Amino acid sequence: MRLWPLPTSSDEAEPVLSAPLGMPGDACHCSLALSALHDMFGHGETEPTREVGGILLGAFTDDEGRECTWVEDIVPALLAMGSSTSLTFTHETWAQIHSEVDSRADGLRIVGWYHTHPGFGPFYSAHDLFIHRNFFADPRHVGLVLDPVRVSLNVFGWVEGDIAKFPGCLVHVPRDDRAELETFLRRTTYI
Ligand SMILES: [Zn+2]
Repeated sequence: MRLWPLPTSSDEAEPVLSAPLGMPGDACHCSLALSALHDMFGHGETEPTREVGGILLGAFTDDEGRECTWVEDIVPALLAMGSSTSLTFTHETWAQIHSEVDSRADGLRIVGWYHTHPGFGPFYSAHDLFIHRNFFADPRHVGLVLDPVRVSLNVFGWVEGDIAKFPGCLVHVPRDDRAELETFLRRTTYI
């Protein structure tokens, strides 16, 4: 495991412990707070038969010349129209998300989106690609797909102008939460 400075903390010296999920390589392309992952899986478990989703909040930092996307929190999209196999962000959904983001005092920004595929695996459908292309066009934006039934996830993002699955990601916790991080990594699959 590796210690990083936490980019979103007001105390820049406050370190976090991080470990790889999948095969992210040496560079940080995307690092996810374990608390945010628990919230996303928790959101998915409330709706085991249809898709739910929301927005990822965090920060962008530079890691040895390549942008790293840090995910620290989520805003569940309570009004997103979810069916068993697709999710749509309506105007009302965006209004809810922007009012929640604007009311926060922690300075976190929108860094991507997440949604669930309950029981059928964390891939990107053509509709998911459409959403990512049109609403998350910043090259640092990431998209998370989780399967709360199979306890698996994938991270997608922009790679050389196109959307691709990342080979892995990092998961981070406050440095005292090593045991909780190890438990999560043992039970979660990055496909
Ligand atoms: Zn999808």
